Amino acid sequence: MINPNLSSDDIKRDGPDHFIREIIKDDLASGRVGEVVTRFPPEPNGYLHIGHAKSISLNFGMAAEFGGHCNLRFDDTNPVKEEHEYIDAIQEDLNWLGFEWGGKALYASDYFEQLYTWAENLIESGDAYVDDLDSDQIREYRGTLTEPGRNSPYRDRSVDENLDLFRRMRAAEFPNGARTLRAKIDMGSGNINMRDPVLYRVLHAPHPRTGDAWCIYPTYDFAHGQSDAIEGVTHSLCTLEFADHRPLYEWLIEHLPTPCLPKQYEFARLNLTYTVLSKRKLMQLVQEGVVSGWDDPRMPTLRGLRRRGIPAAALRDFARDIGVARADSAVDYGFLEFCTREVLNQSALRRMAVLNPLKVVIDNYPEDGSELLEAINNPEDESAGTRQIEFSREIYIERDDYMENPPKKFFRLSPGREVRLRYAYFVTCTDVVKDANGEVVELRCTYDPASRGGQSPDGRKVRGTLHWVDAKRAVNAQVRRFEHLFASENPGSEDDLLAALNPNSKTVIEEAKIEPALATDPVGTQVQFERLGYFCVDPDTTTDLPVFNEIVPLRDTWKKIKNSQR
Ligand code: ATP
Ligand code: MG
Repeated sequence: MINPNLSSDDIKRDGPDHFIREIIKDDLASGRVGEVVTRFPPEPNGYLHIGHAKSISLNFGMAAEFGGHCNLRFDDTNPVKEEHEYIDAIQEDLNWLGFEWGGKALYASDYFEQLYTWAENLIESGDAYVDDLDSDQIREYRGTLTEPGRNSPYRDRSVDENLDLFRRMRAAEFPNGARTLRAKIDMGSGNINMRDPVLYRVLHAPHPRTGDAWCIYPTYDFAHGQSDAIEGVTHSLCTLEFADHRPLYEWLIEHLPTPCLPKQYEFARLNLTYTVLSKRKLMQLVQEGVVSGWDDPRMPTLRGLRRRGIPAAALRDFARDIGVARADSAVDYGFLEFCTREVLNQSALRRMAVLNPLKVVIDNYPEDGSELLEAINNPEDESAGTRQIEFSREIYIERDDYMENPPKKFFRLSPGREVRLRYAYFVTCTDVVKDANGEVVELRCTYDPASRGGQSPDGRKVRGTLHWVDAKRAVNAQVRRFEHLFASENPGSEDDLLAALNPNSKTVIEEAKIEPALATDPVGTQVQFERLGYFCVDPDTTTDLPVFNEIVPLRDTWKKIKNSQR
């Protein structure tokens, strides 16, 4: 269920209307369903990504909205690819995202004995047989989309022979791949999933939870619907690629003495521009060292997004508001940024940091003088209060905030121009110091003492307001800025995934200057660097060097003007 620690604001909105909600309403109205039961069924073979967040939001969201419940069930039927590490990580990520599942996680592996019994039931009713074809032969016999398949020569074994062989499969008498149990349906079916699908395979591999108890494992198709039935799932919500499996899902439920009749519904999976949402491809990025790990801040995994600083609330909003459709489409990455800004605008404290520092000396300010000025912590939240920031004769401003020959509409500093230093004073640029290469190394300014706090003393206006940090008090920090991990909008469609990478996806700024209040924020703190964007304290932070990740920039009005002039 939705985490009870969430405020009612967090869960007050149900999100846009969609067909799944309509189906559930109809099922409740017609009495097909009493309590709505859904499940989120991750396979523990990788970390959760933002696509899973959509499925989580839908499954937990529908159950919550209609007063039912949602199970977390690990679909752990493939011991070769699955690991305990993932089981723990998935639960941790779900908790972080703000969802709970009534205490206990469920596992398809808990049902292995029941599934085995049902498999014997199918053999007894003549609906399943043991096949000796190997996997290549099975593929060969299966036919194609345009050609029907052929019956296996082992298809007409007697019930007794099938039972005997299946029991011996379980008893470890056969090597990997030697025999399978297949449903006896229709090799001529137009739906390949119905051409005698494999239900069990021999696989001598220890399972993370059942250890050496089994050497035969059920396939996804045999485990999934039956697990739904055991748990009393009413609406088994999955992504579109399973639509072709639905006839099999229904066939199995129909041919087995399951305690209830779950139904499968398919919705479009989430695709997000400029990234990939496939565990296999994400694994490739990790294994090839393209990213620093599953939690690299550029990864679309929940761990990556969390380390980047995206709040769980923003992900919940995103997953809910993208809606649920029947046809595939891609969501613009910008929408995730929008949801992130919406949350952080309310919650993040404002601070000042200069990423590309340019020194400014205020000539008419007393040599050894300094003073404390009051700065607002969050204009969106009065209870966040104010803080004192130190100001003295030397400060840093952003190099981009100065231009020697400014174009029209550049309202920041330039020779002879007056601007406001936020919370401090009006200053006018009087001189520019350059090095031998003509590079600007320092600006000289004068300030107007009557403009303390950044207030105009006489009604005169300045167009620009700059952020700054006091040179003496500033702390050095490392700031990691990010762009999309991929240059291609749909990297998943590229033949060479790695060639689609954006070479500029990460820029490390080694010597940013931050105000002292930022230097002691704990890991994970999200702040707004005024005029720049939202940033988050990275776990690489040490006592000597705070490290920040850029979460999302503020919308930059100057960049917009510049781009529109191109
Ligand atoms: P991947 O394609 O990344 O390997 P998967 O579907 O194999 O993902 P599972 O662990 O089996 O991953 O997924 C658990 C649930 O999450 C399934 O119900 C699946 O349909 C859903 N899911 C996975 N990816 C997405 C996505 N991009 N959008 C919506 N739901 C998703
Ligand atoms: Mg899967």
